[in-house]
Amino acid sequence: MRKWLSAWSYSDLEYKLTYKCQRNGIMVELVDARCTSQKCCVCKTIDKASRKGNRYNCRHCGNACMQM
Ligand SMILES: [Zn+2]
Repeated sequence: MRKWLSAWSYSDLEYKLTYKCQRNGIMVELVDARCTSQKCCVCKTIDKASRKGNRYNCRHCGNACMQM
């Protein structure tokens, strides 16, 4: 029971931390199949101007994606 509880607390903390980081735009989401070169993987806005090199800084929602 105690072991289960601590494991739950850890994942809960991890979740909150990840959520907070994403909210603050600190966490750079590594690109996945949803991220195309000119499309935001969060709000799905297609904006050529948001693409800078291998980074996508969405002007619409503030999401920062790194394209590998
Ligand atoms: Zn966006």
